[in-house]
Amino acid sequence: MKKITMGFLLVLLVFTLNGCDTSERDQRFTVVATTTYIGDMINMIGGDYVHVETLMAPGVDPHDYEPRQSDTERLINADMIVANGLNLEERMVDVLREFSGDKMFVLGEHVPEHQLLHEDNDVVDPHIWFNLDIWSKLVMVAAEAMGALDEDHADIYIARATAYQHDLRMLDAYIKSQIERLPTDKRILVTAHDAFAYFGEAYGFEVHAIQGISTESEASIRDIDQLAQLLVQQNIQSVFFESSVPQTTVNALVESARSLNHDVNIGGELYSDSTGPMSKGHETLLRTYRVNIDVIVSALLEE
Ligand SMILES: [Zn+2]
Repeated sequence: MKKITMGFLLVLLVFTLNGCDTSERDQRFTVVATTTYIGDMINMIGGDYVHVETLMAPGVDPHDYEPRQSDTERLINADMIVANGLNLEERMVDVLREFSGDKMFVLGEHVPEHQLLHEDNDVVDPHIWFNLDIWSKLVMVAAEAMGALDEDHADIYIARATAYQHDLRMLDAYIKSQIERLPTDKRILVTAHDAFAYFGEAYGFEVHAIQGISTESEASIRDIDQLAQLLVQQNIQSVFFESSVPQTTVNALVESARSLNHDVNIGGELYSDSTGPMSKGHETLLRTYRVNIDVIVSALLEE
């Protein structure tokens, strides 16, 4: 009797496992992306031909994201892994290094050296998605890499990448047209951490941040007070929250400026190191960047 029960259980178990196997496994070319911006890029290139899994959710800070056990399983099962690199995924570096080889594609390694920005201490700035010229070129390089691993769809990836590059050029034109509305002395952006240097360089904005290019470095009271003094000196009246960074330091900056008799407004919340959420329809770079520009321009125009 005992034997029959065990045998039955075994059959049931095998049946269940097979059932899961066929119903859950996606047969398409599977790409695991680390960040939301990369997941969006691969979706744009791959369309229905690619199954994209993005490790970090919207609103998650990639600088301090710790990989979970389930992430490692997804990385193992992926046909291709696409990461930002340039030390953006600071705490994932060791895990990603395990997968070096054909299926690992690091976007940052394909940016020409002269287009990379650096912090004062020579540390390279990883926020490359805000330079649409860099990003657009990376779209094509990623499409070629996808086609090399999934040859049946190589032509489709190139065609879709070309179409997406057109959309990025349209976005670039929109951004320029909106910034034109701002007097040049209003083109100053103050945020929580230094994510917007590529944006600043591309569109002629002066950018300041409380923290450096990584959120891992703690903001000191001295950093906050120094920036508050700059707000006073340059009569800067708006500062911005970031969706992937706690609002505490920006609030402290506003308080510090107030103690110097200088009133500063919160201009709104920007998407910096992650796209917006799907619930708002902001999950693509095209939407995210557009929303950011609208928030920045309307806040600075109102001053
Ligand atoms: Zn960042």
